[in-house]
Amino acid sequence: MDGITERVLEGLATLGNSHVREARVFRAPGRVNLIGEHTDYNLGFVMPVALDLACYAATAPRVDGILRIHSRNMNDTRELPVDDIKELKPAGHWSDYVLGAAKEVALAGYPVEAADLVIESTVPVGAGLSSSAAIEVSSALAFLRGRSIDKLELVKLARRVENDFVGMPCGIMDQFISVHGQENRAVRLDCRSLGHELVPLPFSVRVIAVNSMVKHDLGASAYPQRVRECAEAVAVYAERIPGVASLRDLTAEQYRHFDEYVSVPARWRARHVISENERVLAFREACVRHDRAEMGQLFYSSHKSMRDDYEISCAEIDFLVETAMAHSGCYGARLTGGGFGGCTVNLVAPEAVDTFKQAVAEAYHKQFGIIPTFYDCHPAAGAGEASLG
Ligand code: ADP
Ligand code: MG
Repeated sequence: MDGITERVLEGLATLGNSHVREARVFRAPGRVNLIGEHTDYNLGFVMPVALDLACYAATAPRVDGILRIHSRNMNDTRELPVDDIKELKPAGHWSDYVLGAAKEVALAGYPVEAADLVIESTVPVGAGLSSSAAIEVSSALAFLRGRSIDKLELVKLARRVENDFVGMPCGIMDQFISVHGQENRAVRLDCRSLGHELVPLPFSVRVIAVNSMVKHDLGASAYPQRVRECAEAVAVYAERIPGVASLRDLTAEQYRHFDEYVSVPARWRARHVISENERVLAFREACVRHDRAEMGQLFYSSHKSMRDDYEISCAEIDFLVETAMAHSGCYGARLTGGGFGGCTVNLVAPEAVDTFKQAVAEAYHKQFGIIPTFYDCHPAAGAGEASLG
């Protein structure tokens, strides 16, 4: 049994649960998106990997009709009568992610029983590595307590927690990869058909995420604003080109033909999404060819497009990207996640990883007085039950 599994089980005992012997533990990973940013809710392409950073949820039954949840990260506990779950309203609080999962499980027709739930996550919160999908999926599995569920149904259920309960209009990528991740593989996902393909990464590159340790408030309002701006652009094209229902349906040539009819900044947002979809497909090809230089160039083009067209970067992230690009062992760097802070993702030669981390940490500290955190991203398996053996 690993340390975090032990801790969440101990957490149940600390809460005073008297059925710890019936406890089960479920795990769901965070992710780093290699390329394809803000393309998921535009029904395009993405290419994430699941991480060995994950959220663990331990659950054990209670007999008094109460549902009690505790986050070890937040050191906070909430409880409510389990019979109230279907009527529950969001509270604008971390517990929304967990109780929203209970509600969605109940609404999907599965019985949600009185229980204690203890959660601990190694996914950094709010850093763009999707601690939210990790907590949603692990909580949903804990409330299901081993009842079988189709993987895609679980993905959609967890996404409803975030869309309908938490109120964040995110696409399907985060929940999809948290459920479908595979060891040593990236997943190229078509967010419309939900068809996916496992892509091995060349052994000769390491994926390193660098946490800027900043998160600017603008992010919360900018995300739904970008969703609206993309819809505004789609409406212009849908009037002119039959069959266009999302930015996914537009080629770069079709885009250019009518772009003057789209007002700014929606025009730029659409340009990012359309070029980013092309980059995902090109990145997949470059991976297969083990063409590290091309993979790196696509990373950097993606970053510039997010910075200039999608306008979701910030000074700290741009600095991390430029510093990384200036390092001889780094092939490419870009912002990953929603934007306005969080992490960059970097492709680094294995032998250069240590000097890369040192150079980036020193430069970032000198410029902003902040020590960044580094994550070596080893593609890991998707969600499931943790072994208690
Ligand atoms: P990201 O998914 O990039 O980490 P989000 O803003 O989407 O960032 O989700 C972060 C939110 O998810 C936190 O503010 C918190 O409400 C919730 N959350 C994630 N992990 C935990 C945890 N271990 N315990 C409690 N809440 C968590
Ligand atoms: Mg999130």
